Amino acid sequence: PERPIGLDSIQDQVKQKLLRFGLTFNIMIVGSSGLGKSTMMNTLFKSKVNRWMASDTSQEPIIPPTVEIKTISHVIEEKNIRLKLSITDTPGFGDHVNNVKCWEPIIKYINDQYQHYLSEERRIERKPRIPDTRIHCVIYFIAPTGHSLRAIDVECLKRLVKVVNVIPVIAKADSLTLEERQAFKNRIRNDFERNGISKLYPMLHKGLEEDEFQKNKAIKNQLPFAVVGSDQFMSIKGTPVLARKTRWGTIEVENPSHNEFPQFRDMLLRTHLHDLIDTTAEVYYEHYRRNQLQLVQD
Ligand code: GDP
Ligand code: MG
Repeated sequence: PERPIGLDSIQDQVKQKLLRFGLTFNIMIVGSSGLGKSTMMNTLFKSKVNRWMASDTSQEPIIPPTVEIKTISHVIEEKNIRLKLSITDTPGFGDHVNNVKCWEPIIKYINDQYQHYLSEERRIERKPRIPDTRIHCVIYFIAPTGHSLRAIDVECLKRLVKVVNVIPVIAKADSLTLEERQAFKNRIRNDFERNGISKLYPMLHKGLEEDEFQKNKAIKNQLPFAVVGSDQFMSIKGTPVLARKTRWGTIEVENPSHNEFPQFRDMLLRTHLHDLIDTTAEVYYEHYRRNQLQLVQD
């Protein structure tokens, strides 16, 4: 009889490791100021994450304008799996008259985390587990203008896609009608193409299984997700749900027929979480690492 290789036990080992150490997932939110970035950070923490609930959702913080790059973390537990979810909020562009190179502090922050990881890796006495602060995904907020991508977004996105996974979203989608959303999406996707911004997440590469390829292709055709954020619970038929009152009525953040936050959140925190972590290590960090080591050699 054929001897089993025991791949199932490898699976168990991975599980054991996850049980012991948990997963670390780091998100960064980028875009112009006033688009709801800080609100989205709270929305993500408060939303039902695959029925995971963030540990404390009690206080209702009033969101002050963000003035510095700042990270908030929560440990989320479900079925013995621990996920440390960190979200890095950024001040946003457009706060200053001069927007030249406003992406620089963001790119620097991302590279600093790679550098930090690299120095830990290269130490003679390595830690058994290097704390991972590398950004696994940037959520890029696009203003719901209904027109096209702005120059500042083009400049910023071009640079970001070289160093990190980027998922674009249309902010405050409640300000556009369904038709406007669709037309805006099409225009933005054209703008991506025209400006050579093709490396947005998820990537369609040859290494994917056919079904993964098709799934990712479907996601790509849906980008950017038209999302609505809120950190307020409202009572809908007696149940508290994350929602937002508009002139037209109440928009439920986690209702897929109201906006695309649910699809976006599922992709980010459920279906593609592992792939975002892997891609960060294998593509973006690897690229950084090689460049740095080459610099040292030359
Ligand atoms: P930031 O500057 O990008 O961090 O934006 P904030 O999170 O501070 O939000 C700016 C304002 O927009 C606040 O008054 C929020 O309540 C509001 N806001 C946030 N998300 C949404 C949304 O999805 N739709 C609408 N209409 N307003 C939003
Ligand atoms: Mg903010």
